[in-house]
Amino acid sequence: MFIKTEAIVLREVEINEADKLLDLLSKDRGLLTVKARGVRRGSSPLKSACQLLTLSEFTLQDYRGKLAVQEAQPLEQFRTLRENIELLALGSYFAQAAGAVAQEDAPNPELLQLLCNALFALASQGRPQALVKAAFELRLACLAGFKPDLSACAVCGAEAPDRFDLSRGTLSCAACREGENGIRLPLTPGMLMAMRYVVWCEPKRLFSFRLEEESLLALSALTEAYLMTQLEHSFYTLDFYKSLLHYGETI
Ligand SMILES: [Zn+2]
Repeated sequence: MFIKTEAIVLREVEINEADKLLDLLSKDRGLLTVKARGVRRGSSPLKSACQLLTLSEFTLQDYRGKLAVQEAQPLEQFRTLRENIELLALGSYFAQAAGAVAQEDAPNPELLQLLCNALFALASQGRPQALVKAAFELRLACLAGFKPDLSACAVCGAEAPDRFDLSRGTLSCAACREGENGIRLPLTPGMLMAMRYVVWCEPKRLFSFRLEEESLLALSALTEAYLMTQLEHSFYTLDFYKSLLHYGETI
């Protein structure tokens, strides 16, 4: 039996002499693990389509539930990502986080679209890394079922609260308390406006907002903390990305 699907390579592991095991996020079947035989040989026709962070059209052979790549054509390789270690590290984090939210046998075209749009915004549109990261993380949390309530203060109903509760995903004012104290992070009006935009906008407009750099960095720290709190997960690709930024600051 053959399966045709569009999918992006989330992870690659070298096995045997010339093979790879790939984790794919596919349009039609969610998360898939497939074997790409002989793909590490220079002459393999599958080579470019089976690279990390490449979106490809795959034809997969299903033999008793085990999938192998029969054919693959690259659709988008996000080449600029491969020329910049920071962008590649950030893109790899996006892939790992998308993989943590994706499920097997559960098609999730919105998740695939979010990941591809984020990689495109980094690779081709040159959007600021902190902006793409913040928008990706917050929207990913929404797709994972953790859409925050950003309408008003959850206690008094004020429309412009200045705190965000990481475990509840709600807004509140500094002086308003909702039961037991959770971790609340401060929000500027600009950060709140950006969060509302990201949660409510059309998918294609997700990265089309502006915020000055200081608020953007604070927003990126907040969305990261929110995603980690809700998924109860940490990501080694994120630690690596942050270590690169830190290194950049010290030289
Ligand atoms: Zn309030």
